[in-house]
Amino acid sequence: MVLSGGRVVDPSQDIDRTADVLIQDGAVVGILDPGSGPSDAEEIDVRGKLVTPGLIDIHVHLREPGFEYKEDIESGTRAAAAGGFTRVCCMPNTRPAIDTASVVRHILETAGQVGSARVHPIGAATVDMQGDQLTEMAELKAAGAIAISDDAFPLQHADTMRRVMDYCAMLDLPLMTHNEDKRLTEKGAMNEGYTATVMGIAGMPRIAEDIAVARNILLARLTGCHLHLLHISTAGTVDLLRRAKADGIPVTGEACPHHWALTDSACEGYNTDAKMNPPLRTQEDCEAVKAGLTDGTIDCIVTDHAPHADYEKEVEFDAAPFGILGLETSFPLTYTQLVLPGVLALSDAIAKMTTVPARVLNLPDGAGTLRPGAVADIAVFELDTEWTIDRAKVQSKSHNTPFHGMKVRGKVAFTVLGGKRIVL
Ligand SMILES: [Zn+2]
Repeated sequence: MVLSGGRVVDPSQDIDRTADVLIQDGAVVGILDPGSGPSDAEEIDVRGKLVTPGLIDIHVHLREPGFEYKEDIESGTRAAAAGGFTRVCCMPNTRPAIDTASVVRHILETAGQVGSARVHPIGAATVDMQGDQLTEMAELKAAGAIAISDDAFPLQHADTMRRVMDYCAMLDLPLMTHNEDKRLTEKGAMNEGYTATVMGIAGMPRIAEDIAVARNILLARLTGCHLHLLHISTAGTVDLLRRAKADGIPVTGEACPHHWALTDSACEGYNTDAKMNPPLRTQEDCEAVKAGLTDGTIDCIVTDHAPHADYEKEVEFDAAPFGILGLETSFPLTYTQLVLPGVLALSDAIAKMTTVPARVLNLPDGAGTLRPGAVADIAVFELDTEWTIDRAKVQSKSHNTPFHGMKVRGKVAFTVLGGKRIVL
């Protein structure tokens, strides 16, 4: 198969030119001059379109097992494919949690059967994510878990975190932390500040994130563990990460589109589709996140795709669960709000959604590249297409997006997974 005549951007090889991508037996053969490939190949004309390595999202919630009414592996990976993603890493806050090898194997098997994208499970740090007894991380890794995380249930005790990091360092597993001092955010439902006060909602102060980040960075320095900071939302975190990198501490970080695109004023009117954790912050924080992306402090763009059923979100603000959809809006938001205004070059934006996350989590099979021999996972986009985000037209089972009605540019045409075009 040959994808012919597109603009091929592969940051892993510093490529940005019009070319053909030749695919055989599920792998990339090479990036060739237009029309120079074998004449008997099945041709897909992608002239005028952007061709990149399949996007990778290392932070999603697929909700299976246990919460299939919100999302399952089949619908979640369809949402991924609709967003240009060929690979996602799923968080362990399922029921049962991803805290044993058998749950890891179950997810990998199911994804292999029904997935429209590859799935890499992330193992829990503690049993049932209760923050007490450590999981058997070596067994989780042997079964296929590619990292450990406490997402949704951040470890509050430094001694537990230290032991988790010791094991992760020993096993060469990245530790992905949700950074929150829970005593500072108790009963909080949105960012602490003017809007929360006006709305009469208890606030979650930015310092709750900064304190946890500072502690976790110090513990990473002590243990040598590769610490990855999840969903960075504050200027303070960006600053701490920048300084930690300058000090040579093994720490990386990620940001979600909503944390540069929206402020806590999106919660006005008690809009539960703007409720997530960490919460939407201030304009100053949005600008800091963007600056962190520009100067390389923040390594990856992720979504924290967190589906919830309508009836769960259609309740009073305090009672609604945290989380929003992300997979189907991440690329167009990145292109429209970061690339077009010049915050990130196109190749840098693609790198933060392909090559870099693959490196951060040591993903296998030539993830995030179109080098010869790499598995043929590819995304194709129509950059000039303008469209309006519509919560009714999603592949996800859920509809909880704060971006409904927003005009964006850049639409996914299709993805190729292991050399096969995904049809949705
Ligand atoms: Zn998450």
